[in-house]
Amino acid sequence: MAALFQDSVALENERISSPPHAQTDHLVEAALLTLDGDGAKPRVGYSGIVERSTPAHAFLEHSTSILFPVLFVPNVYFSFDRLYDLELLWLAMLSIPLALVSGDFIGGLVHWAADTYCSEDTPVVGPALVKPFRQHHLYPRDICTHTLVSIVGNVCILAVPVLSLCLYLLWLTTHGLLAFAILCTTLMVATTVATNVFHKWAHQEKPSAAVRWLQRTRLILEPQHHLVHHTEPFQMHYCITNGWLNPLLNKIGFFRKLETLLRFLGIEPTNVENGHRPRM
Ligand SMILES: [Zn+2]
Ligand SMILES: [Zn+2]
Repeated sequence: MAALFQDSVALENERISSPPHAQTDHLVEAALLTLDGDGAKPRVGYSGIVERSTPAHAFLEHSTSILFPVLFVPNVYFSFDRLYDLELLWLAMLSIPLALVSGDFIGGLVHWAADTYCSEDTPVVGPALVKPFRQHHLYPRDICTHTLVSIVGNVCILAVPVLSLCLYLLWLTTHGLLAFAILCTTLMVATTVATNVFHKWAHQEKPSAAVRWLQRTRLILEPQHHLVHHTEPFQMHYCITNGWLNPLLNKIGFFRKLETLLRFLGIEPTNVENGHRPRM
């Protein structure tokens, strides 16, 4: 998800200006061909747009990307160690699936919100969230050209304060349940940071054998599963960490119900311009 949080990004070449129906056609073509094509064919799915962060934003992305593992390791070590001392190791084991599921859900929720509400011009969230997600629908393989820092940096900017607080709380108290909560939070944050890496791999033309194995075992986002999100009606499979929750959320109509609730509160979807079909 990190690459989809491109804040203060300058688009150097072009601005997408095709009408919604043309964008939708382009989207379907790009999504299908980019996942099925090979390197010898035209680079369908790539925009050719070069994205650059501002110097201040790039500094934040790089510094927090370095700080993230520096904070992640002691949080895991000390919370795990405390649970071990209290003979609560089963809680530590429970934290792993909990983190994977909750990370998948949070990523899906943010993705759905960016696909559905606000616009690219909305202050703060527009350039940071909405625009990258919607650009991704038009040019799904652009994410493959992004560096590691550019795809994890924005999430690290949010993750570092959370992990700093967790480490402080661990130092403050020895309570077992707090150690469990901190371990869950730390692993969930790490899952969220990794989400856009998994998302990038799902769009790669030739992922490594190890990545393909992880995808086949469904430990991370599997390309054909994610392709559903890039196919009409573009209203499913928002979860892009491992996609475990997508079948359940589809079945219960979770996001449609959430939209109905928000519509009842006067908040209307604004996704007409993003290349997705309007929901009316
Ligand atoms: Zn989307
Ligand atoms: Zn995608």
